Amino acid sequence: MPDVTLSPEVLAKYEPVIGLEVHVQLLTATKAFCGCANRFGREPNTNVCPICLGLPGSLPVLNRKAVEFATLASMAINCEVRQRSIFARKNYFYPDLPKGYQISQFDKPLAEHGWIDVPTAEGGVKRVGITRLHMEEDAGKSIHEDLPDSATHTSIDLNRCGTPLAEIVSEPDMRTPDEAWEYLTRLKEILLYCGVSDCNMEEGSLRCDANVSVRLKGAPQFGVKAEVKNVNSFRFVRAALQYEIERQIEVIESGGHVIQESRQWSSADGRTYSMRSKEQAHDYRYFPEPDLPPLVLSAEFLAETRKKLPELPEARRARMIAAYDLSTQDASTLTATKEEADLFEAAAKSVKSPHRLASVLLNELAGRLKALDLDQQHSPVSIAGAVLAADLIEENKISSKQLKQLFDVCFEKKEDFPSVYEREKPRQITDASALDAMIDQVIAANPRQVEQYRGGKKTVAGFFVGQVMKASKGQANPALLNQLVTKKLEG
Ligand SMILES: [Zn+2]
Repeated sequence: MPDVTLSPEVLAKYEPVIGLEVHVQLLTATKAFCGCANRFGREPNTNVCPICLGLPGSLPVLNRKAVEFATLASMAINCEVRQRSIFARKNYFYPDLPKGYQISQFDKPLAEHGWIDVPTAEGGVKRVGITRLHMEEDAGKSIHEDLPDSATHTSIDLNRCGTPLAEIVSEPDMRTPDEAWEYLTRLKEILLYCGVSDCNMEEGSLRCDANVSVRLKGAPQFGVKAEVKNVNSFRFVRAALQYEIERQIEVIESGGHVIQESRQWSSADGRTYSMRSKEQAHDYRYFPEPDLPPLVLSAEFLAETRKKLPELPEARRARMIAAYDLSTQDASTLTATKEEADLFEAAAKSVKSPHRLASVLLNELAGRLKALDLDQQHSPVSIAGAVLAADLIEENKISSKQLKQLFDVCFEKKEDFPSVYEREKPRQITDASALDAMIDQVIAANPRQVEQYRGGKKTVAGFFVGQVMKASKGQANPALLNQLVTKKLEG
């Protein structure tokens, strides 16, 4: 590595240019072109057949569900879907590709010209273009570690061969690693909302390659790019881009040239390594797949598929902010997954104040769950429990301090809120004479407010109710207290 100091001034001279290629496995029951199950984690090389192994004489048959999922994803990212697309053979040799080619799409992909909006650091929105979404099949997997003979041998698992993929290629529109992170986060959210993939990065259902180059600010042309392959978390994508941007600037600043190549990210070392110089597209010798006819989508199919588009995360957030009086931050947490958003909106129908429910979920429940690394499904406090808690707060039957104490008990005993509340609910003071005494004290201590009330400002009653409620540590029965306060002030 050349020895150049990258001061903030030097870094500021350059502009990074980032484009992302995302491979996402489609959540179909069977593979793209055969009847083998599309499942992760089976015994190696047991989930294969002559078609996905590409044995002579076998013929692929396109999975209709895979087309539907890829079309749905295309629509969700605002692409134009081509009515007639062409499958193509992408020819290359690799041990995990027994056919010697991959069925993909080339010059006539399923969909093009899309975009998604991502939030910017300045609080605005940036539109990132999507060049294309095309369908293809996955290859098998080379296993280099964790087997007894891994030190001397590489093993092959072909179960993944023929798994349906959508490859989503962005325009080189991103300028910072943070923008890339936001793009990936939004894209994953959209795909999850559509239900077309589980987007599980650990199992490889979503994989990301990042193209990155740097150029002097204002330069008319892009610099030479490097491709960072298969980074397995969004956090690492961001780190890999940051590293790569600085590496390239260092190369240029010390008088060298960035070379076009594929690079491997090592999270252990926090850096990228050169893998091989990048094959050019024409090296793959693409040609139309002779075993598959053109993919023709009828107007009915497209209309039917469009009807299946769910409300997408951005739109849902905007609607929920307006409907439930939520902050942007709260709405974005509550809509992080479709399941959570559905759960909240179902509960919002029965709770007295959805805004209050959001606050119980986000301020009381979320932190406790996070500390124990639990999700809502495994929470001791159910959604119904949170609804009861929100209602009790809303009706002034418990204070927020009491709510915290009750939730502590729920988590300690792993017991839902309603039963804990029934057993331990704060005693309510329903004895009128006890409340009267407290009211007298508060009235005596606040002559000015008494005068305001008697002068006609009836809303001041709320002040007295609040003060007595506080003095009773939240235990005064609210209905009785209201009644007594009015009586005293009028008397
Ligand atoms: Zn098969």
